[in-house]
Amino acid sequence: MKVILVYNGYTPKSIAMLKSNRQLKVIVYQNQKEFDQYISDSTIVLIRSNTQVHEKLILGAKNLKLVVTATSGFDHIDYSCCMKNNIKVLYTPNANVQSAAELTIGHMLNISRKLTQAQTSLFNDRWRSPDLFASNLGGKNLGIVGLGRIGQKVTQIAQAIGMKVAAYDPYIEHSMFQALNVEPQGFMELLRNSDVLSLHVPLTKETFEMINAKTLVEANTDLILINASRGQVIREPDLIQWLQKKKIKAAGLDVYHKEPLVKDSELKQLKNVFLTPHIGAFTEEAYVEASEDAVAKALRFIDSGELRDELPLDQAWAKFL
Ligand code: NAD
Repeated sequence: MKVILVYNGYTPKSIAMLKSNRQLKVIVYQNQKEFDQYISDSTIVLIRSNTQVHEKLILGAKNLKLVVTATSGFDHIDYSCCMKNNIKVLYTPNANVQSAAELTIGHMLNISRKLTQAQTSLFNDRWRSPDLFASNLGGKNLGIVGLGRIGQKVTQIAQAIGMKVAAYDPYIEHSMFQALNVEPQGFMELLRNSDVLSLHVPLTKETFEMINAKTLVEANTDLILINASRGQVIREPDLIQWLQKKKIKAAGLDVYHKEPLVKDSELKQLKNVFLTPHIGAFTEEAYVEASEDAVAKALRFIDSGELRDELPLDQAWAKFL
């Protein structure tokens, strides 16, 4: 009998789909400690981004054939070690696209229209104070770093608002830029030209801390920086310095170098930063779609060996950790 280990953060319906298969012994785990305990007997594990699948665990899991993560990011999995040990890894790259894109646009609107300040002001019985005078997003230059699934969706929504979009992504075809009516630019050029810069790259050796003091010097003082990709794409102390000295206008962040964000993070002291606790995929629709998609993938693998949405290793996205 195959042992399937599934995170209790999957929807009850998706866990029931697994349990209805009588050939499977389904173990539902609550946290990393339980995952570490049960992985050694498991054939398939179904996880989310809060579960680390690292080398020591993989080497001890002699029966493991498949890891499915109900996420579009995959930096919590040591997939080169999985590859060496002939363990397949599948993900759910489409489930979170809409929710992550909507959050990204939400951060942009929040900053440009000063929504957080407006609420605080009203709650303090101040009616439309002069400091709430704001700017439109329409007509502004949006720079997208990483024109993949989420970058493309953000592009389409931003264009509907009236933004002009340019992007940096060395891995996608020029025809994609043309199809989306997006101007291709170099990374430094994009930093120089953008009113809003939004990061949508995976975490790799190349993207690790790609926003740092050396690159931020290119940014203009009115820049709004949005990051709903991975926290380690930004060198946080450098960003904090830039925000403190008002060398850029503001930042909207959903992800951090270390998560959960440390209690006394300097980011929380800043007035020109807007923080959300990694909620890009935290919607009912994304949660349901990711859970059910991941379970369907596991069941298809059991039935026919089919592998749908293996990690995109062809792009040499070497994991850095
Ligand atoms: P994707 O794979 O569809 O797109 C990523 C794009 O980045 C690709 O087009 C790729 O060519 C490009 N890229 C890779 N390396 C690059 C580099 N060095 N410079 C520029 N471009 C580069 O991924 P996606 O589904 O659009 O997800 C994007 C990011 O969003 C991932 O980091 C993912 O983990 C993150 N994400 C976060 C949340 C959240 O909760 N905040 C939710 C979903 C996804």
